[in-house]
Amino acid sequence: MSRLVVVSNRVAAVKQSRPGAEGGLAVAVRAALRARGGIWFGWSGKVLERDYGQPTLTQAGKITYATIDMTQRDYDEYYVGFANSTLWPLFHYRLDLAEFAQRTWAGYQRVNTLFAHRLQPMLEDTDVVWVHDYHFLLLAEILRSAGCKQKMGFFLHIPWPSLEVLLALPQHREIVKALCAYDLLGFQTVDHLHCFQDYIRREAGGEIGDDGTIKVFGRALKAQAFPIGIDTEMFAQMAVESEDSKQVHRLLESLGKRDLMIGVDRLDYSKGLIKRVEAFEHLLAAYPDNRGKVVFLQINPPSRSDVADYIDMKRELEATAGHVNGTFAEYDWMPIRYLNKSFSRRVLSGFFRVSRVGLVTPLRDGMNLVAKEFVAAQSEKDPGVLVLSRFAGAARELDGALIVNPYDVEGVAERMQEALTMPLGARQERWRSMYKSIAENDVTAWRENFLQTLQKSGRTR
Ligand code: UDP
Repeated sequence: MSRLVVVSNRVAAVKQSRPGAEGGLAVAVRAALRARGGIWFGWSGKVLERDYGQPTLTQAGKITYATIDMTQRDYDEYYVGFANSTLWPLFHYRLDLAEFAQRTWAGYQRVNTLFAHRLQPMLEDTDVVWVHDYHFLLLAEILRSAGCKQKMGFFLHIPWPSLEVLLALPQHREIVKALCAYDLLGFQTVDHLHCFQDYIRREAGGEIGDDGTIKVFGRALKAQAFPIGIDTEMFAQMAVESEDSKQVHRLLESLGKRDLMIGVDRLDYSKGLIKRVEAFEHLLAAYPDNRGKVVFLQINPPSRSDVADYIDMKRELEATAGHVNGTFAEYDWMPIRYLNKSFSRRVLSGFFRVSRVGLVTPLRDGMNLVAKEFVAAQSEKDPGVLVLSRFAGAARELDGALIVNPYDVEGVAERMQEALTMPLGARQERWRSMYKSIAENDVTAWRENFLQTLQKSGRTR
Protein backbone atom coordinates (compact mmCIF):
# COMPACT_ATOMS: atom_id res chain seq x y z
CA MET A 1 0.00 0.00 0.00
CA SER A 2 1.35 3.45 -0.89
CA ARG A 3 2.37 5.86 1.80
CA LEU A 4 -0.20 8.56 2.50
CA VAL A 5 0.53 12.27 2.71
CA VAL A 6 -2.27 14.40 4.09
CA VAL A 7 -2.27 18.18 3.75
CA SER A 8 -4.70 20.36 5.67
CA ASN A 9 -4.56 23.89 6.99
CA ARG A 10 -4.43 22.69 10.57
CA VAL A 11 -2.85 19.45 11.75
CA ALA A 12 -4.29 17.55 14.70
CA ALA A 13 -2.26 17.41 17.90
CA VAL A 14 0.37 14.67 17.92
CA LYS A 15 -0.89 13.31 21.17
CA GLN A 16 -4.31 11.78 20.75
CA SER A 17 -6.77 12.82 23.39
CA ARG A 18 -9.45 10.52 24.72
CA PRO A 19 -12.05 9.09 22.29
CA GLY A 20 -14.54 11.64 21.07
CA ALA A 21 -12.43 14.65 21.99
CA GLU A 22 -11.46 15.36 18.41
CA GLY A 23 -13.53 15.54 15.25
CA GLY A 24 -14.30 12.63 12.96
CA LEU A 25 -11.98 13.92 10.27
CA ALA A 26 -8.97 13.97 12.58
CA VAL A 27 -9.80 10.49 13.83
CA ALA A 28 -10.25 9.13 10.29
CA VAL A 29 -7.13 10.73 8.86
CA ARG A 30 -5.04 9.56 11.77
CA ALA A 31 -6.33 6.01 11.40
CA ALA A 32 -5.52 6.01 7.67
CA LEU A 33 -2.03 7.39 8.33
CA ARG A 34 -1.44 4.84 11.04
CA ALA A 35 -2.41 1.98 8.72
CA ARG A 36 -0.30 3.08 5.74
CA GLY A 37 2.35 5.20 7.38
CA GLY A 38 2.83 8.74 6.17
CA ILE A 39 2.95 12.45 6.76
CA TRP A 40 0.41 14.95 8.02
CA PHE A 41 1.47 18.35 6.79
CA GLY A 42 0.04 21.80 7.52
CA TRP A 43 0.20 25.03 9.46
CA SER A 44 1.29 24.88 13.09
CA GLY A 45 -1.30 27.49 14.10
CA LYS A 46 1.55 29.82 15.09
CA VAL A 47 1.98 33.29 13.64
CA LEU A 48 5.53 34.58 13.83
CA GLU A 49 7.23 37.74 12.66
CA ARG A 50 9.94 35.90 10.73
CA ASP A 51 10.30 33.95 7.53
CA TYR A 52 9.26 30.32 7.25
CA GLY A 53 11.77 27.83 8.50
CA GLN A 54 11.89 24.18 7.58
CA PRO A 55 8.91 22.16 8.83
CA THR A 56 8.98 21.01 12.43
CA LEU A 57 8.85 17.21 12.34
CA THR A 58 7.43 15.02 15.09
CA GLN A 59 7.44 11.28 14.69
CA ALA A 60 4.74 9.21 16.38
CA GLY A 61 4.80 5.56 15.31
CA LYS A 62 4.40 5.44 11.54
CA ILE A 63 3.14 9.03 11.32
CA THR A 64 5.28 12.11 10.75
CA TYR A 65 3.58 15.34 11.80
CA ALA A 66 5.13 18.17 9.79
CA THR A 67 4.10 21.74 10.53
CA ILE A 68 5.25 25.15 9.50
CA ASP A 69 4.63 28.54 11.05
CA MET A 70 3.22 31.52 9.21
CA THR A 71 4.21 35.17 9.12
CA GLN A 72 1.72 37.83 10.20
CA ARG A 73 1.47 39.08 6.63
CA ASP A 74 0.70 35.61 5.27
CA TYR A 75 -1.85 35.02 8.01
CA ASP A 76 -3.58 38.31 7.18
CA GLU A 77 -3.57 37.88 3.41
CA TYR A 78 -3.95 34.14 2.92
CA TYR A 79 -5.92 33.00 5.96
CA VAL A 80 -8.02 35.95 7.14
CA GLY A 81 -7.96 37.46 3.66
CA PHE A 82 -8.48 35.26 0.62
CA ALA A 83 -9.49 32.03 2.41
CA ASN A 84 -11.91 33.47 4.95
CA SER A 85 -12.98 36.82 3.51
CA THR A 86 -13.22 35.80 -0.17
CA LEU A 87 -13.59 32.04 -0.67
CA TRP A 88 -15.60 31.26 2.46
CA PRO A 89 -18.36 33.87 1.94
CA LEU A 90 -18.49 33.33 -1.82
CA PHE A 91 -18.71 29.54 -1.59
CA HIS A 92 -21.49 30.02 0.99
CA TYR A 93 -23.41 32.27 -1.41
CA ARG A 94 -22.65 35.48 0.50
CA LEU A 95 -21.59 37.65 -2.42
CA ASP A 96 -22.50 40.67 -0.32
CA LEU A 97 -19.77 39.77 2.21
CA ALA A 98 -17.06 38.53 -0.17
CA GLU A 99 -14.08 40.86 -0.51
CA PHE A 100 -11.99 40.89 -3.62
CA ALA A 101 -8.44 42.26 -3.48
CA GLN A 102 -5.36 41.56 -5.57
CA ARG A 103 -3.29 41.73 -2.40
CA THR A 104 -5.02 38.80 -0.67
CA TRP A 105 -5.08 36.73 -3.88
CA ALA A 106 -1.31 37.26 -4.16
CA GLY A 107 -0.99 36.19 -0.51
CA TYR A 108 -3.04 33.06 -1.18
CA GLN A 109 -0.86 32.13 -4.17
CA ARG A 110 2.27 32.85 -2.18
CA VAL A 111 1.28 30.65 0.76
CA ASN A 112 0.14 27.78 -1.50
CA THR A 113 3.52 28.02 -3.25
CA LEU A 114 5.43 28.10 0.03
CA PHE A 115 3.56 25.08 1.35
CA ALA A 116 4.13 23.18 -1.90
CA HIS A 117 7.84 23.94 -1.84
CA ARG A 118 8.17 22.86 1.77
CA LEU A 119 6.25 19.67 1.10
CA GLN A 120 7.99 18.61 -2.10
CA PRO A 121 11.32 17.49 -0.60
CA MET A 122 9.43 15.19 1.78
CA LEU A 123 7.55 13.37 -0.99
CA GLU A 124 8.49 9.95 -2.30
CA ASP A 125 7.60 8.84 -5.85
CA THR A 126 4.98 6.30 -4.81
CA ASP A 127 3.21 8.50 -2.24
CA VAL A 128 -0.49 9.27 -2.48
CA VAL A 129 -1.25 12.89 -1.58
CA TRP A 130 -4.62 13.90 -0.10
CA VAL A 131 -5.26 17.62 0.25
CA HIS A 132 -8.14 19.03 2.28
CA ASP A 133 -10.29 22.07 1.79
CA TYR A 134 -10.43 25.54 0.36
CA HIS A 135 -7.11 26.70 1.78
CA PHE A 136 -5.11 24.71 -0.75
CA LEU A 137 -6.96 24.82 -4.05
CA LEU A 138 -3.72 25.57 -5.92
CA LEU A 139 -1.38 23.06 -4.30
CA ALA A 140 -1.43 20.27 -6.91
CA GLU A 141 -0.78 22.58 -9.82
CA ILE A 142 2.24 24.08 -8.07
CA LEU A 143 3.56 20.62 -7.17
CA ARG A 144 3.00 19.40 -10.74
CA SER A 145 4.91 22.30 -12.22
CA ALA A 146 7.74 21.46 -9.83
CA GLY A 147 7.80 17.97 -11.40
CA CYS A 148 5.76 15.96 -8.85
CA LYS A 149 3.98 13.00 -10.46
CA GLN A 150 2.35 11.43 -7.41
CA LYS A 151 -1.36 10.68 -7.29
CA MET A 152 -3.09 13.67 -5.78
CA GLY A 153 -6.64 13.92 -4.48
CA PHE A 154 -8.53 16.88 -3.11
CA PHE A 155 -11.60 16.97 -0.88
CA LEU A 156 -13.65 20.13 -0.47
CA HIS A 157 -15.36 20.29 2.91
CA ILE A 158 -17.45 23.37 2.07
CA PRO A 159 -20.02 23.79 -0.73
CA TRP A 160 -18.99 24.29 -4.34
CA PRO A 161 -21.12 27.22 -5.54
CA SER A 162 -23.30 27.42 -8.62
CA LEU A 163 -21.79 28.75 -11.83
CA GLU A 164 -23.36 32.21 -11.63
CA VAL A 165 -22.03 32.73 -8.10
CA LEU A 166 -18.57 31.43 -8.89
CA LEU A 167 -18.26 33.75 -11.87
CA ALA A 168 -18.20 36.67 -9.45
CA LEU A 169 -14.78 35.50 -8.27
CA PRO A 170 -12.24 37.34 -10.42
CA GLN A 171 -9.85 34.37 -10.30
CA HIS A 172 -12.43 31.66 -11.04
CA ARG A 173 -10.62 30.35 -14.10
CA GLU A 174 -7.17 30.18 -12.50
CA ILE A 175 -8.64 28.39 -9.53
CA VAL A 176 -10.63 25.80 -11.47
CA LYS A 177 -7.69 25.19 -13.80
CA ALA A 178 -5.41 24.65 -10.79
CA LEU A 179 -7.92 22.22 -9.27
CA CYS A 180 -7.82 20.19 -12.45
CA ALA A 181 -4.19 19.30 -11.70
CA TYR A 182 -5.50 16.89 -9.05
CA ASP A 183 -6.34 13.33 -10.16
CA LEU A 184 -9.50 13.18 -8.04
CA LEU A 185 -11.79 15.91 -6.73
CA GLY A 186 -14.23 15.04 -3.97
CA PHE A 187 -17.32 17.09 -3.11
CA GLN A 188 -19.76 16.73 -0.23
CA THR A 189 -22.88 16.19 -2.35
CA VAL A 190 -23.94 15.51 -5.93
CA ASP A 191 -25.38 19.03 -6.01
CA HIS A 192 -21.93 20.50 -5.45
CA LEU A 193 -20.49 18.08 -7.99
CA HIS A 194 -23.08 19.16 -10.56
CA CYS A 195 -22.22 22.81 -9.98
CA PHE A 196 -18.57 22.01 -10.66
CA GLN A 197 -19.44 20.01 -13.78
CA ASP A 198 -21.60 22.86 -14.93
CA TYR A 199 -18.60 25.18 -14.81
CA ILE A 200 -16.45 22.67 -16.68
CA ARG A 201 -19.01 22.30 -19.49
CA ARG A 202 -20.38 25.78 -19.84
CA GLU A 203 -17.50 28.03 -18.84
CA ALA A 204 -14.36 26.00 -19.50
CA GLY A 205 -15.58 24.09 -22.58
CA GLY A 206 -14.60 20.73 -21.07
CA GLU A 207 -16.17 17.29 -21.47
CA ILE A 208 -17.58 14.93 -18.88
CA GLY A 209 -17.64 11.22 -19.62
CA ASP A 210 -20.28 8.75 -18.41
CA ASP A 211 -17.91 7.49 -15.71
CA GLY A 212 -17.42 11.04 -14.39
CA THR A 213 -14.04 11.57 -16.08
CA ILE A 214 -13.45 15.22 -16.86
CA LYS A 215 -11.37 16.35 -19.82
CA VAL A 216 -10.48 20.00 -19.70
CA PHE A 217 -7.45 22.31 -19.92
CA GLY A 218 -5.54 19.45 -21.57
CA ARG A 219 -5.94 17.36 -18.42
CA ALA A 220 -8.01 14.35 -17.39
CA LEU A 221 -9.32 13.85 -13.86
CA LYS A 222 -12.20 12.41 -11.88
CA ALA A 223 -14.72 14.27 -9.78
CA GLN A 224 -17.23 12.60 -7.47
CA ALA A 225 -19.40 13.15 -4.43
CA PHE A 226 -18.13 11.63 -1.18
CA PRO A 227 -20.48 12.77 1.61
CA ILE A 228 -18.41 12.87 4.79
CA GLY A 229 -19.63 10.85 7.77
CA ILE A 230 -18.99 10.80 11.50
CA ASP A 231 -17.69 8.07 13.78
CA THR A 232 -21.29 7.02 14.35
CA GLU A 233 -20.88 4.09 16.69
CA MET A 234 -18.39 5.88 18.88
CA PHE A 235 -20.59 9.00 19.08
CA ALA A 236 -23.68 6.94 19.94
CA GLN A 237 -21.77 5.14 22.69
CA MET A 238 -20.41 8.41 24.05
CA ALA A 239 -23.94 9.86 24.21
CA VAL A 240 -25.15 6.90 26.30
CA GLU A 241 -22.31 7.48 28.77
CA SER A 242 -22.69 11.24 28.77
CA GLU A 243 -26.39 11.06 29.62
CA ASP A 244 -25.31 10.07 33.09
CA SER A 245 -22.81 12.91 33.50
CA LYS A 246 -22.85 15.77 35.99
CA GLN A 247 -23.48 18.32 33.20
CA VAL A 248 -26.50 16.49 31.79
CA HIS A 249 -27.98 15.99 35.26
CA ARG A 250 -27.62 19.71 35.94
CA LEU A 251 -29.17 20.60 32.60
CA LEU A 252 -32.17 18.33 33.21
CA GLU A 253 -32.62 19.67 36.70
CA SER A 254 -32.67 23.24 35.39
CA LEU A 255 -35.27 22.33 32.76
CA GLY A 256 -37.74 20.68 35.07
CA LYS A 257 -40.43 19.22 32.82
CA ARG A 258 -39.75 21.59 29.95
CA ASP A 259 -38.82 20.37 26.47
CA LEU A 260 -35.38 21.23 25.16
CA MET A 261 -34.63 22.44 21.66
CA ILE A 262 -30.91 22.62 20.90
CA GLY A 263 -28.70 24.33 18.34
CA VAL A 264 -24.90 23.95 18.22
CA ASP A 265 -22.98 25.95 15.66
CA ARG A 266 -19.78 27.89 15.29
CA LEU A 267 -20.70 31.56 15.39
CA ASP A 268 -20.77 31.92 11.61
CA TYR A 269 -23.10 33.85 9.31
CA SER A 270 -23.55 30.72 7.17
CA LYS A 271 -25.33 28.95 10.03
CA GLY A 272 -28.56 30.96 9.80
CA LEU A 273 -28.59 31.80 13.50
CA ILE A 274 -30.55 35.03 13.33
CA LYS A 275 -33.26 33.49 11.16
CA ARG A 276 -33.40 30.56 13.58
CA VAL A 277 -34.00 32.86 16.55
CA GLU A 278 -36.66 34.70 14.56
CA ALA A 279 -38.33 31.37 13.77
CA PHE A 280 -38.32 30.52 17.48
CA GLU A 281 -39.88 33.90 18.21
CA HIS A 282 -42.57 33.12 15.67
CA LEU A 283 -43.16 29.73 17.31
CA LEU A 284 -43.83 31.42 20.65
CA ALA A 285 -46.08 34.00 19.03
CA ALA A 286 -48.07 31.59 16.82
CA TYR A 287 -48.24 28.65 19.25
CA PRO A 288 -48.52 30.27 22.70
CA ASP A 289 -48.92 26.88 24.42
CA ASN A 290 -45.14 26.57 24.16
CA ARG A 291 -44.58 29.57 26.43
CA GLY A 292 -43.11 28.45 29.69
CA LYS A 293 -42.83 24.88 28.37
CA VAL A 294 -39.98 24.97 25.86
CA VAL A 295 -36.38 26.09 26.26
CA PHE A 296 -34.15 26.81 23.28
CA LEU A 297 -30.47 26.23 24.13
CA GLN A 298 -28.20 27.75 21.50
CA ILE A 299 -24.49 26.98 21.86
CA ASN A 300 -22.16 29.13 19.77
CA PRO A 301 -18.42 28.71 20.15
CA PRO A 302 -16.74 31.91 18.96
CA SER A 303 -15.16 31.72 15.53
CA ARG A 304 -12.91 33.93 13.38
CA SER A 305 -13.42 36.83 15.73
CA ASP A 306 -10.76 38.80 13.82
CA VAL A 307 -13.02 39.05 10.75
CA ALA A 308 -15.29 42.14 10.88
CA ASP A 309 -18.39 40.41 9.47
CA TYR A 310 -18.33 37.93 12.34
CA ILE A 311 -18.27 40.72 14.91
CA ASP A 312 -21.26 42.41 13.26
CA MET A 313 -23.22 39.17 13.06
CA LYS A 314 -22.58 38.39 16.72
CA ARG A 315 -23.90 41.79 17.75
CA GLU A 316 -27.05 41.35 15.68
CA LEU A 317 -27.64 37.84 16.99
CA GLU A 318 -27.30 38.98 20.58
CA ALA A 319 -29.72 41.83 19.98
CA THR A 320 -32.27 39.47 18.37
CA ALA A 321 -32.02 36.85 21.13
CA GLY A 322 -32.19 39.59 23.78
CA HIS A 323 -35.31 40.98 22.13
CA VAL A 324 -37.05 37.57 22.16
CA ASN A 325 -36.17 36.98 25.79
CA GLY A 326 -37.28 40.50 26.67
CA THR A 327 -40.60 39.94 24.91
CA PHE A 328 -41.51 36.51 26.24
CA ALA A 329 -39.53 35.72 29.41
CA GLU A 330 -41.29 35.23 32.71
CA TYR A 331 -39.79 35.50 36.19
CA ASP A 332 -39.40 31.70 36.21
CA TRP A 333 -38.72 30.97 32.53
CA MET A 334 -36.15 32.23 30.03
CA PRO A 335 -37.02 31.08 26.49
CA ILE A 336 -33.52 31.30 24.96
CA ARG A 337 -30.30 30.27 26.65
CA TYR A 338 -27.60 31.71 24.45
CA LEU A 339 -24.09 30.47 25.24
CA ASN A 340 -21.11 32.03 23.57
CA LYS A 341 -18.66 29.26 24.40
CA SER A 342 -17.67 25.78 23.36
CA PHE A 343 -18.28 22.38 24.93
CA SER A 344 -16.53 19.06 24.50
CA ARG A 345 -18.15 16.64 22.07
CA ARG A 346 -18.71 14.32 25.00
CA VAL A 347 -20.85 16.86 26.84
CA LEU A 348 -22.63 17.84 23.62
CA SER A 349 -23.52 14.23 22.89
CA GLY A 350 -25.36 14.03 26.23
CA PHE A 351 -27.12 17.36 25.61
CA PHE A 352 -28.26 16.07 22.21
CA ARG A 353 -29.58 12.87 23.73
CA VAL A 354 -31.87 14.66 26.17
CA SER A 355 -33.14 17.18 23.58
CA ARG A 356 -36.60 16.88 22.11
CA VAL A 357 -35.60 18.80 18.96
CA GLY A 358 -32.30 19.48 17.17
CA LEU A 359 -32.20 22.69 15.14
CA VAL A 360 -29.74 22.66 12.23
CA THR A 361 -30.80 25.44 9.91
CA PRO A 362 -27.77 26.81 8.04
CA LEU A 363 -28.33 29.08 5.07
CA ARG A 364 -25.60 27.07 3.35
CA ASP A 365 -23.34 24.30 4.64
CA GLY A 366 -21.02 21.77 3.02
CA MET A 367 -22.27 18.88 5.16
CA ASN A 368 -22.97 19.87 8.80
CA LEU A 369 -21.69 17.20 11.13
CA VAL A 370 -23.78 18.42 14.05
CA ALA A 371 -26.87 17.14 12.20
CA LYS A 372 -25.39 13.65 12.02
CA GLU A 373 -24.14 13.80 15.62
CA PHE A 374 -27.61 14.77 16.83
CA VAL A 375 -29.06 11.68 15.15
CA ALA A 376 -26.28 9.41 16.44
CA ALA A 377 -26.89 10.59 20.01
CA GLN A 378 -30.61 9.76 20.18
CA SER A 379 -32.05 6.78 22.00
CA GLU A 380 -34.21 4.44 19.95
CA LYS A 381 -36.72 4.31 22.80
CA ASP A 382 -37.49 8.02 22.73
CA PRO A 383 -35.68 9.79 19.89
CA GLY A 384 -35.69 13.55 19.36
CA VAL A 385 -36.59 15.13 16.01
CA LEU A 386 -34.15 16.87 13.69
CA VAL A 387 -35.22 20.08 11.95
CA LEU A 388 -32.77 20.41 9.07
CA SER A 389 -32.10 23.01 6.41
CA ARG A 390 -32.37 21.85 2.83
CA PHE A 391 -29.20 23.86 2.20
CA ALA A 392 -27.04 21.65 4.45
CA GLY A 393 -25.27 18.84 2.61
CA ALA A 394 -26.60 16.47 5.29
CA ALA A 395 -30.17 16.97 4.00
CA ARG A 396 -29.34 14.71 1.04
CA GLU A 397 -28.87 11.74 3.38
CA LEU A 398 -31.00 12.55 6.44
CA ASP A 399 -34.39 12.05 4.84
CA GLY A 400 -36.05 11.38 8.19
CA ALA A 401 -35.49 14.96 9.29
CA LEU A 402 -38.09 17.69 8.95
CA ILE A 403 -36.54 19.51 6.02
CA VAL A 404 -36.96 23.29 6.04
CA ASN A 405 -36.11 26.36 4.03
CA PRO A 406 -34.21 28.42 6.64
CA TYR A 407 -35.15 31.73 4.99
CA ASP A 408 -38.83 30.95 5.53
CA VAL A 409 -39.14 31.94 9.19
CA GLU A 410 -42.83 31.05 9.51
CA GLY A 411 -42.32 27.73 7.75
CA VAL A 412 -39.47 26.84 10.13
CA ALA A 413 -41.67 27.74 13.12
CA GLU A 414 -44.33 25.36 11.84
CA ARG A 415 -41.83 22.53 11.54
CA MET A 416 -40.59 23.32 15.07
CA GLN A 417 -44.16 22.91 16.29
CA GLU A 418 -44.53 19.65 14.34
CA ALA A 419 -41.28 18.39 15.88
CA LEU A 420 -42.40 19.29 19.41
CA THR A 421 -45.70 17.47 19.00
CA MET A 422 -44.64 14.46 16.90
CA PRO A 423 -45.91 11.13 18.27
CA LEU A 424 -43.40 8.53 19.40
CA GLY A 425 -44.02 6.07 16.53
CA ALA A 426 -43.34 8.70 13.86
CA ARG A 427 -40.22 9.88 15.68
CA GLN A 428 -38.86 6.34 15.86
CA GLU A 429 -39.57 5.65 12.21
CA ARG A 430 -37.80 8.82 11.09
CA TRP A 431 -34.88 8.24 13.42
CA ARG A 432 -34.32 4.61 12.29
CA SER A 433 -33.98 5.54 8.65
CA MET A 434 -31.52 8.34 9.49
CA TYR A 435 -29.46 6.20 11.83
CA LYS A 436 -29.17 3.48 9.20
CA SER A 437 -27.75 5.95 6.73
CA ILE A 438 -25.16 7.45 9.10
CA ALA A 439 -24.14 4.00 10.36
CA GLU A 440 -23.56 2.76 6.80
CA ASN A 441 -21.69 5.80 5.55
CA ASP A 442 -19.58 6.58 8.59
CA VAL A 443 -16.29 8.42 8.47
CA THR A 444 -14.28 5.23 7.95
CA ALA A 445 -16.36 4.25 4.91
CA TRP A 446 -15.98 7.79 3.58
CA ARG A 447 -12.21 7.77 3.93
CA GLU A 448 -11.79 4.30 2.37
CA ASN A 449 -14.09 5.19 -0.47
CA PHE A 450 -12.11 8.32 -1.28
CA LEU A 451 -8.70 6.71 -0.99
CA GLN A 452 -9.66 3.63 -3.04
CA THR A 453 -11.08 5.83 -5.78
CA LEU A 454 -7.93 7.94 -5.74
CA GLN A 455 -5.76 4.85 -5.91
CA LYS A 456 -7.62 3.72 -9.04
CA SER A 457 -7.78 7.11 -10.71
CA GLY A 458 -5.26 9.22 -12.56
CA ARG A 459 -2.11 8.13 -14.24
CA THR A 460 -1.00 4.53 -13.82
CA ARG A 461 2.43 3.90 -12.48
N1 UDP B 1 -18.28 21.20 18.28
C1 UDP B 1 -17.62 21.00 19.48
N2 UDP B 1 -17.87 21.86 20.52
C2 UDP B 1 -18.74 22.92 20.42
C3 UDP B 1 -19.42 23.09 19.19
C4 UDP B 1 -19.17 22.23 18.14
O1 UDP B 1 -16.83 20.06 19.62
O2 UDP B 1 -18.93 23.64 21.39
C5 UDP B 1 -18.04 20.26 17.16
C6 UDP B 1 -19.30 19.54 16.73
O3 UDP B 1 -19.56 18.45 17.61
C7 UDP B 1 -18.95 19.13 15.29
C8 UDP B 1 -18.03 20.26 14.83
O4 UDP B 1 -17.62 20.95 16.01
O5 UDP B 1 -18.25 17.92 15.27
C9 UDP B 1 -18.71 21.21 13.87
O6 UDP B 1 -18.80 20.63 12.60
P1 UDP B 1 -19.91 21.08 11.55
O7 UDP B 1 -19.70 20.31 10.30
O8 UDP B 1 -21.28 20.96 12.13
O9 UDP B 1 -19.66 22.64 11.31
P2 UDP B 1 -18.34 23.51 10.99
O10 UDP B 1 -17.99 24.19 12.27
O11 UDP B 1 -17.27 22.56 10.49
O12 UDP B 1 -18.79 24.51 9.95
